[in-house]
Amino acid sequence: MSNVSLRGLKKSYGSVEVIPSLDLDIRSGEFVVLVGPSGSGKSTLLRMIAGLESIDAGTVSVEGEDVTQRDPGDRDMAMVFQSYALYPHMTVAENMTFALRMRGMDKTTIGERLTESVRMLSLEGLEHRKPGQLSGGQRQRVAMGRAIVRQPRVFLFDEPLSNLDAKLRARTRIELRELHEKLGATSIFVTHDQIEAMTMADRIVLLEKGRIQQVGSPREIYERPRNTFVASFIGSPE
Ligand code: ADP
Ligand code: MG
Repeated sequence: MSNVSLRGLKKSYGSVEVIPSLDLDIRSGEFVVLVGPSGSGKSTLLRMIAGLESIDAGTVSVEGEDVTQRDPGDRDMAMVFQSYALYPHMTVAENMTFALRMRGMDKTTIGERLTESVRMLSLEGLEHRKPGQLSGGQRQRVAMGRAIVRQPRVFLFDEPLSNLDAKLRARTRIELRELHEKLGATSIFVTHDQIEAMTMADRIVLLEKGRIQQVGSPREIYERPRNTFVASFIGSPE
């Protein structure tokens, strides 16, 4: 069974059709990379899946359940943003557990989840620091941690590595994939970087002007691009 199912999703801003009509099935445990040029509608689509953006038509289902009308907090998804969106006045631990505390989860469970996530992300010893006292890479991990503690069915990533320098970005790609395997998660990862897509994806979904141009494994897309847009996007340097 597919984990996330998108059917007939549509979105316009005024007279501009950003997503004309989109269908996609994402399998349980899959790492799908949604890639395309700037302005192709990747963030809009991800926010529609998360429930952070209203949709004009269509449905979003998770494990067969229609979640289209549910609030973002009730979809069992967690999103990691490019900007990290950490609270500057809160410590690492407070940032990571904020959503759990808001839900009134008991302190013991929160403590256990925090300890486990801190260990997974090698953030030991930094629990009491504020985001301003962390490196870019550490802040990125805290943003990840905030998603992991929620133990969601689906992770949504919107260009989470783009604020890291090239070396750290390359390392974090690998770590993020390892984390995905370890968590047994389903991940939808948005990027405009074809290298990131080629190295991280189980399947690539290539978007242009809100339309899917091709879906396939990195190898399929590389060896058998369906049209000249795909060929030039995948083949072109950064
Ligand atoms: P991407 O993430 O692929 O760069 P976006 O989803 O951010 O693309 O944007 C897709 C298109 O929708 C762009 O043309 C952008 O200008 C437009 N857009 C995005 N958000 C809004 C908004 N809130 N109001 C109007 N237009 C928007
Ligand atoms: Mg974007």
